[in-house]
Amino acid sequence: MRLIDTAYIDGAFVPVSGDEVLEIANPANEEPIGRQRLAGRQDARRAIAAASRAQVALSQSTKAERLDMLRSLQAAILCRADAIRDVTIEEYGAPISRARWISQYASDCFGYAAEALQRYPFSRRIGDATVRMEPVGVAALIAPWNAAAGTICSKLASALAAGCASVIKPSELGGLQSQVVTEALHSAGLAAGIFNVVVGRGSDVGDELSANPDVARISFTGSTATGKAIARAASETMKRVSLSLSGKSAAILLDDADCEAAIPMALNSGFQNNGQACIAGTRILVPHGRLEEVEAIVRAAMGAWKVGDPADPGTTLGPLANAAQFDRVQRYIARGIEQGATLIAGGPGRPEGLAKGHFVRPTVFADVGNDMDIAREEIFGPVLSIIAYSDDDDAVAKANDSAYGLQAYVYSRDVERASRIGERLMAGSVLINRVTPDLRAPFGGVKQSGIGREFGLFGLESFLEPKAIVREHAEPQDAAAQPWRGQGSITDFY
Ligand code: NAD
Repeated sequence: MRLIDTAYIDGAFVPVSGDEVLEIANPANEEPIGRQRLAGRQDARRAIAAASRAQVALSQSTKAERLDMLRSLQAAILCRADAIRDVTIEEYGAPISRARWISQYASDCFGYAAEALQRYPFSRRIGDATVRMEPVGVAALIAPWNAAAGTICSKLASALAAGCASVIKPSELGGLQSQVVTEALHSAGLAAGIFNVVVGRGSDVGDELSANPDVARISFTGSTATGKAIARAASETMKRVSLSLSGKSAAILLDDADCEAAIPMALNSGFQNNGQACIAGTRILVPHGRLEEVEAIVRAAMGAWKVGDPADPGTTLGPLANAAQFDRVQRYIARGIEQGATLIAGGPGRPEGLAKGHFVRPTVFADVGNDMDIAREEIFGPVLSIIAYSDDDDAVAKANDSAYGLQAYVYSRDVERASRIGERLMAGSVLINRVTPDLRAPFGGVKQSGIGREFGLFGLESFLEPKAIVREHAEPQDAAAQPWRGQGSITDFY
């Protein structure tokens, strides 16, 4: 049982001023494991002030200094990888393989950001102007509960690479994970105020970050509804805002797909993170002619999904994170049945033998119309829909007929053909015959899945702003007068 009553401000763990205390329970057995006193608006203000002081020196830091900081943070997270893995299982219910990946990913974020920073030219010539890419200023990094360690570290890595001090607001529903990650980050020994961590409610800590004039940039990951509220509040002070939001991803099995290989991948994508993933491929689009075959393979493949204790290495699906999530998923399963979809796996209630914990049955519906609620709304649990299509054009139309556009998947024996389909999909990224992204590539959504991109070069640039210095007697623009060419210039970078 752990009690957390501090925030991390100005390089130290300090008592929070808020008086609301949250009980933290293990989602696998509903036993209490901790209590968290939430930070409040005053704590957010102190954190913003600390970041603003740190910003002065950080703006002037060299690339080499920031590379050192990123590598220290990477090593610090790696050192605590086991603790991050364990708390991700205990507080969140991630199966051990996923929890292990999360702790590795959290440390890799700093490595990838260092790689992008190493190669990034902060100054370039455009016409008569010298264009300097400058840090935008203090950044608020607001994270959801379903990816605590990864979101904190990926956002911090990009902000720091650019030279932005930050105030991190993890979700109030991931307090233990945030504490373990913050303790690890603290052990890297960075100067006070470069990053601050304040766990509190969106309605006060989050609202303060969105409105405070000393915050220049918001990097938000969470639901579309909250993203809209943040964008509205942030526009008052013209903050630079990126929003990584909800999804309802399509996974298209083309008519030539090797279904024996593709379906396990499609299920892995759909059920990843216990189904609580923005990028889960929850709409599986199947050609009419292969429906029967696909449904048979899905039924057989579902036998491989073992729901239970997330600490057991044999478990592939842990509990949902909390009771509200359990109820939400049950409502959607009931609605799918009411609206006429056919259950081919799972269904309402708990899996057999699991009387405690927020466990649900991994569920697959067939005969789903793209207009049903289960096909249109983000369920955020292990509930997948099989939707039939007639030809490639129909598959693309159905995939694109969604309010969201985060990540899509295409499975085919012909990678070139799949790529051509991928080009027609309205999504921030498209994965062909794979379910793991490349963390150096840009990540983000189109339509109501968000604005802006994270990770790698694009993540770094999202915390920078160009300043043009145009001189009276600019040097001529012939090749000989452009010594930056071939020496790590932006032209070389792209
Ligand atoms: P949420 O929108 O409820 O909360 C996200 C964060 O915003 C939390 O820290 C919360 O405290 C804070 N917040 C809430 N109200 C706020 C306000 N008015 N002002 C400022 N901050 C506020 O989302 P959630 O339930 O924590 O996460 C699940 C959602 O996040 C899903 O929709 C999922 O698809 C999405 N998500 C998206 C990505 C992505 O990269 N696109 C990744 C993970 C999760």
